[in-house]
Amino acid sequence: MKENSVLSLKQLPFTRRPDEEKKRIKELEPDRPNLQINQQSSDRGRVYTRSFSPANYQTRSWLAGCDVSHAFYCFPCLLFESSGTDKWTKTGVSDLKHLSEKCKRHESTRSHLDNALKLQFFGKRSIVEQLDASYRIGIRRHNEEVTKNRHILSRIIDCVKFCGAFELALRGHDESERSENPGIFRGLVDFVASLDGVLKEHLENATVFKGTSKTVQNELLDCMLSVVKEHIMQEARSSNFLSIQADETTDIATHCQLVLVLRYIDAKNNVQERFF
Ligand SMILES: [Zn+2]
Repeated sequence: MKENSVLSLKQLPFTRRPDEEKKRIKELEPDRPNLQINQQSSDRGRVYTRSFSPANYQTRSWLAGCDVSHAFYCFPCLLFESSGTDKWTKTGVSDLKHLSEKCKRHESTRSHLDNALKLQFFGKRSIVEQLDASYRIGIRRHNEEVTKNRHILSRIIDCVKFCGAFELALRGHDESERSENPGIFRGLVDFVASLDGVLKEHLENATVFKGTSKTVQNELLDCMLSVVKEHIMQEARSSNFLSIQADETTDIATHCQLVLVLRYIDAKNNVQERFF
């Protein structure tokens, strides 16, 4: 039995065949046996004889014939089974009456056009797949970039934390490239960069965000402050006893400055005193 014959395709659907076989079937194109169909019909007393000639195959590339059921089938629809094309895929069209019109009607159905396109693009890599592949590469690159940026930022945060822990000023008197004393923070960042290749490369090549500007330092400090505040509030909320000491004073610009000191017992039964 020929691989591309209607009978073979009905027995084992195209979609369930291995790729190699699918490609072969596509190359073979529809099977077109020489069908012997002669039909007679009478209309108003006259007798018509209809027969099918092989030339009819030439006008339609999708037309397939079956010499077992003596009927015509649609090759792309048979391959990519879809609902709504039963006649052209399951029973076949054996009535030659208005065959040309039937073909025309089938050709313009949506499911046939879809299937014809599927057959056309079968074996070729579709644009959707190519886009999909580049989309995935894009996401991977983006994720790598994010990981790298997080690493750099965490190093800079460590430097800010270090300065905070030892109560060292962040800003230097002169932070320019050629400065001999750029301040503890810049010195510390440069020191970490000498140990960390990724940070070093970033500091040398970054043009938009270096992470060493005063705005970034202040933003990092604000972020740290909100994390610490959140932690203190969380502890205060879960403690049974809490005392608040408030003290206010007027500063040099005659603004009232209020200081809050919280005292409470934390989850480990230690007395905590927090300057808020
Ligand atoms: Zn079709």
